[in-house]
Amino acid sequence: MKYGIIGRNGRMGNEIYNLFSEKNYELVFSYDNTGENYIEKPDVLIDFSLPEVFEKTIEYVDKFHCPLIIGTTGLTEEHIKKLHEVSQYVPVVQSYNFSLGVQVLLKLVKMANELFGENVDIEISETHHRFKKDKPSGTAKMIKEVIGKDVNISSLRLGNVPGDHTIYFGNLGEVISISHRALSRRTFAEGVLKSAEFALKAVAGYYTFKDVFEITMNGRK
Ligand code: NAD
Repeated sequence: MKYGIIGRNGRMGNEIYNLFSEKNYELVFSYDNTGENYIEKPDVLIDFSLPEVFEKTIEYVDKFHCPLIIGTTGLTEEHIKKLHEVSQYVPVVQSYNFSLGVQVLLKLVKMANELFGENVDIEISETHHRFKKDKPSGTAKMIKEVIGKDVNISSLRLGNVPGDHTIYFGNLGEVISISHRALSRRTFAEGVLKSAEFALKAVAGYYTFKDVFEITMNGRK
């Protein structure tokens, strides 16, 4: 695979580059705050940058006419709408969390939410490294969406934590907490790798990591 990274010199850009190199996939294009580095047209573009880079990303997708994997958080509704437009002619995989464990977490939260019903207090807590720009995290927003209620999110910004999320369900007699901890950014890079391999074979359309997870992991069933 020949691929490009937007956000190449960032924390995620480095992690993705290291993992893809282990597979002998070739970085042929990059763009970050040091500028552009073009060797040849990529088969797939990966964006882990900032929302302010979004328009440039769309320009590159149009130019290369290739699939896009986008993990940048803090996107606006307009950005998501634009991704849907682009997905009419190329595959787009968008997710605020590319880890396998968070897909499992979302299923557990959905189940707990349904089993507890109405008479329960629900709180979400997320902790990330001090450099994270957006708050609350995209993952916390995904969890809130699964719960489908106006749930409070507490955000902590501490040291170098890659990403912790806990969801509490409490009634007058008991509390259940469901937690996920990313031990390193490699887990996100692995999801990006699966998504890139998936997108290369996919028809144009809008996909999330949930789709990639269900299509590729269900293959094991
Ligand atoms: P980072 O700050 O380390 O990297 C940001 C990258 O964007 C850098 O390469 C930087 O050069 C580039 N950039 C910033 N401003 C730019 C500009 N104006 N023009 C060109 N390039 C610019 O951040 P990170 O920790 O690598 O995270 C990147 C994004 O990925 C964030 O939005 C983060 O929340 C998100 N993230 C998503 C997941 C997921 O699974 N979806 C996981 C981790 C991080």
